[in-house]
Amino acid sequence: RAKNRGKNTFQFYTADMNASAMARLKLEYSLHRALARDEFQVWYQPKVDLASGTLVGMEALIRWQHPEMGFIPPMEFIPVAEECALIVPIGAWVLQEACRQTRLWAEQCGFGGRVAVNLSARQIKFGNIVGTVAQVLQQTGLPPSQLELEITESTAMDSDGEVMKALEGLRAMGITLAIDDFGTGYSSLAYLKRLPVQVLKIDRSFIKDLDRDKDDAAIASAVISLGRSLGLSVVAEGVETPAHRAFLIEQGCHQAQGYLFGKPQTAADFRYLLC
Ligand code: C2E
Ligand code: MG
Ligand code: MG
Ligand code: MG
Repeated sequence: RAKNRGKNTFQFYTADMNASAMARLKLEYSLHRALARDEFQVWYQPKVDLASGTLVGMEALIRWQHPEMGFIPPMEFIPVAEECALIVPIGAWVLQEACRQTRLWAEQCGFGGRVAVNLSARQIKFGNIVGTVAQVLQQTGLPPSQLELEITESTAMDSDGEVMKALEGLRAMGITLAIDDFGTGYSSLAYLKRLPVQVLKIDRSFIKDLDRDKDDAAIASAVISLGRSLGLSVVAEGVETPAHRAFLIEQGCHQAQGYLFGKPQTAADFRYLLC
């Protein structure tokens, strides 16, 4: 069939590839200017203690408002930023901004909880992350006990000696380390035991349907027991309903994050939860 269409088919694919390559190039170009043009924001999503329902901290999540294209979700531009290495300066900006803001809330409202910032593999491997974090804490005055860094399960498991050294360096500074999206990658339990992490975040995909899907419920409950027996604090992501909450409390999950407790929101809005 392709042969019958001959030239036209070829042209069609070429045009198609060019269009997506162009879009991609345009995105990369816009990303380069975005930091300088101040187009990024950090939004904050509350994290609560499940037993008491009290706010214990928040996750910092990047938001990009492009002047022409409008709001672009992180899942669309973070992978591009990772590929072209822009994630290193962008990630450093998020870290700086989240620490500055949290320090301000500590001063203004007596907030003593932790802010969790996401790190990409590239920031750890090539970004001198220990030096960057030390500098940001020094500049902002945020105590290391108020900073948590999230690395995905795949980054953690893929880690070579260099990554392990960086994580140990961060841990030695008194920073809390969390494994994000746990359950979606291939975890070696022997490796998990050796990682200097204190927090395990169960991926949202297992929480979403846990009241309907027995397998998801079994996985969530197994991850909670695993985390608890390794002495880790277990956080559930994407908690949206009272049924999710009830199940997680029953299973002994420590903390939760999700629309049931609050969506990610601007610093100005989040302040009302703290002060
Ligand atoms: P993540 O770190 O797993 O963050 C949680 C994501 O789940 C956030 O999406 C949050 O808005 C969403 N979420 C939280 N609760 C609920 C819920 O109850 N229901 C539903 N449907 N969603 C919920 P967001 O902000 O779009 O971020 C997506 C991902 O992009 C993050 O997943 C993280 O991997 C990445 N990301 C975001 N900000 C940064 C950043 O500053 N640096 C890096 N490296 N990655 C980031
Ligand atoms: Mg995260
Ligand atoms: Mg997550
Ligand atoms: Mg997730």
